[in-house]
Amino acid sequence: MAAQSKIYGILGGGQLGRMSIEAANRLNLKVAVLDNQPNPAVKLTNHNDHINADFKNHEKVLELAQKSDVLTVEIEHVNCDALYEAKKQNPLLEIHPDPTTIEVIQDKYKQKLELKSRNLPLGEFLNLEINGNELSVLNEASVKFGFPFLLKSKKLAYDGRGNFVIKSQKDFHSGLKALGNGKMELYIEKFVPFVKELAVMVARGRDGEVLSYPVVETIQKNNVCQLVIAPAQIDGKVAKKAKEVAELAISGYKGAGVFGVEMFLLEDGNIYLNEIAPRPHNSGHYTIEACYTSQFENHVRAIAGLPLGNTDMKVPAAIMINILGSELGANNTLLPCTASLPLPGTTVHLYGKEWRSGRKMGHITTVGASLQEVNNACNEILKSISEPNQ
Ligand code: ATP
Ligand code: MG
Ligand code: MG
Repeated sequence: MAAQSKIYGILGGGQLGRMSIEAANRLNLKVAVLDNQPNPAVKLTNHNDHINADFKNHEKVLELAQKSDVLTVEIEHVNCDALYEAKKQNPLLEIHPDPTTIEVIQDKYKQKLELKSRNLPLGEFLNLEINGNELSVLNEASVKFGFPFLLKSKKLAYDGRGNFVIKSQKDFHSGLKALGNGKMELYIEKFVPFVKELAVMVARGRDGEVLSYPVVETIQKNNVCQLVIAPAQIDGKVAKKAKEVAELAISGYKGAGVFGVEMFLLEDGNIYLNEIAPRPHNSGHYTIEACYTSQFENHVRAIAGLPLGNTDMKVPAAIMINILGSELGANNTLLPCTASLPLPGTTVHLYGKEWRSGRKMGHITTVGASLQEVNNACNEILKSISEPNQ
């Protein structure tokens, strides 16, 4: 069956789904979205058979599976049992990446244990059972790791929601309280004194072909990605190592699609993995304008069984700026977009989401002949953002 005759079901209708649909539309591939409406993805689609329901709803996942030839996800926090059930009901259904991959990645602690079992480079971490003995385990962690260390939620984490930095014993109670007061599963990570944060997007086709994108540098503020600089300004040997670590990490997972690999670069040049996303990723948005084939197009090509496209940059440099909902409201959120419009090589993406302070509302990518050039454009755009408490 030609790729264009199939239906590609996607769990989640956020901006990652929306940008995947932009790529799918160009290839005339039909994507059916499962998410509560309105959502950013359905607003752009060339297909009209979506499901307006929670993407975690077991029955609705099965309904999506019934109308799809291929299922994929734009978020890892999905109901894996429903995916296993869908595959059992229809063994011909393709699910990418494989539900076993999503299941191990969606639990950050399981993810770390699995990466450790394959001897991949990682910072130290420790389980924290919620069994009344938490304070003594936190104490143990402070002796083993020193302060600060991180208390993290195993599941449903994004944009740092689920992370708490423990700076001293005084934070033990507030950390536990902030992360669910015993209702969430938690673990502990030693603080990694990184000099930079790096990321690599890795694409794998249905035939097993693996292509990775250039190493980029990501800059987060308050745990949320603010900027992505492509390519990362690092030594060539370090870049080679980062790609190797990313590809090795992905080699342990089954299924096609793109994966985002977040890493820490240490002062001695060593690389530690931070976490992995089994889907397109914020650190890969720059690929839309800066690479021959974007992460979204390669994700769509991968799940459709089409050959992957070239992942090289077609410009010398790019910077991506996330547009976060301004504390001052929806109009202020648009200020960086307006500032970017006269700048050559600059593209605005707005996701069609309702404004909320701190929410990822869109992004801007600026490409150019040198890092200096894109840096100048980036500074011009950032000047327009003035938050009251900064
Ligand atoms: P995402 O939106 O990327 O999924 P997340 O909520 O899963 O975010 P993490 O990636 O675990 O959160 O952490 C967010 C940021 O916090 C990291 O990018 C890094 O800046 C910082 N961070 C996380 N873990 C550590 C650590 N062990 N040591 C030092 N900094 C850390
Ligand atoms: Mg995460
Ligand atoms: Mg992260």
